[in-house]
Amino acid sequence: MPEVVFSVDHDKSMRDQAVPGHNRWHPDIPSAATIKPENLVRIESKEWTDGQIGNNDSANDVRDVDLDHNHMLSGPFDIEGAAPGDLLVVDIVDLGPATQTKGDNCGEGWGYSGIFAKVNGGGFLTDYFPDAYKAVWDFRGQECTSRHIPGVRYTGIQHPGLAGTAPSPELLSRWNKREQALVDTDPERVPPLAIPPTVASALAGTADTEIAARVAQEGARTVPPREHGGNMDVMNLTRGSRVYYPVYVDGAKYSVGDLHFSQGDGEINFCGAIEMGGFIDLHFEVIKGGMETYGVTHNPIFQPSRVEPTYSEWLTFTGISVDHRDDTNLYMDATEAYRNACLNAIEYLKKWGYTGEQAYLILGTAPIQGRLSSVVDIPNACCSLFLPTEIFDFDIRPGGDGPVKTDRGQVAVTS
Ligand code: ZN
Repeated sequence: MPEVVFSVDHDKSMRDQAVPGHNRWHPDIPSAATIKPENLVRIESKEWTDGQIGNNDSANDVRDVDLDHNHMLSGPFDIEGAAPGDLLVVDIVDLGPATQTKGDNCGEGWGYSGIFAKVNGGGFLTDYFPDAYKAVWDFRGQECTSRHIPGVRYTGIQHPGLAGTAPSPELLSRWNKREQALVDTDPERVPPLAIPPTVASALAGTADTEIAARVAQEGARTVPPREHGGNMDVMNLTRGSRVYYPVYVDGAKYSVGDLHFSQGDGEINFCGAIEMGGFIDLHFEVIKGGMETYGVTHNPIFQPSRVEPTYSEWLTFTGISVDHRDDTNLYMDATEAYRNACLNAIEYLKKWGYTGEQAYLILGTAPIQGRLSSVVDIPNACCSLFLPTEIFDFDIRPGGDGPVKTDRGQVAVTS
């Protein structure tokens, strides 16, 4: 049994744990534990919003969620021997949903996925889906189903959405400066272009009042991925994978959280994975001077796991960098091209009786694959979305008698 170096009582807020975690990136957050590289350790994790979303049939909690709390991270952990310039090698040995069995906390047999309202974070398709919706998923071993989206069953590829090392003071100040410069280009935009440090609901682990106040003022929000890793949302970081993180401070100060039961490439609805509280078992090593030796100065590299769902049949949707609403050509815009691949898939799924919201949540949560098919053929980038046809309990492919449109209900909506 791995040694538990960070434990979580899912009945309590992260603030009220014996050792609380944190929700900002800052080098001064005190370490929650020191880990020897040769030890296998277990880290328990709260669901990312700290339990604001319930197992029910209303999306009011997604609409009203307070995003100043996110993401609830376990850590930071000092890894013995790690120093700036090293690479931190992290083996993801195992992970899974919360093992408490009362059933009412996220992760205890269930998880959820949400579409966020445009006024509260939005998502990849927020201009097309501006309101809040939710689907609750039930777990059975590696599989999940949802009463809100009948006709699909996935084998999940479980992974931490968010993990990384702490920034140095210098790196943190660069993040804050460049993100503020981006916000300043369009300060009134909804949703905002980036989220500057936010004092409200900042949590700095075991920091004293003075340090906690500084972390709240300066700490980077956990929403974007950055040089140190962070919210990369790579579904392939599952059990059996090995990740190499740049180290910027003594001890590395690694943190992890935002565990997902299943997610597709792109995590397109922002809260796009099936979110859960749970545990993750890790083993650490340090490659001294590895950042310089291997040229890993910006962003982690990783070796994917040999474990993944064995879907072999796909229906693939493509998209190009044109805004089809007014037939405007964008130049080589891969984001717009992937958005169109998603919208094309949603229109197709609607022909089978799914609502647009159900289809959107399928693409966010199922193990779809997104690819950059071409980024050189001016003026249109082309992206493609591979949808596994075996997740449906009916034949979703074109041909035969055409789509049989069935009433498939609707996801949870707001009142
Ligand atoms: Zn997440």
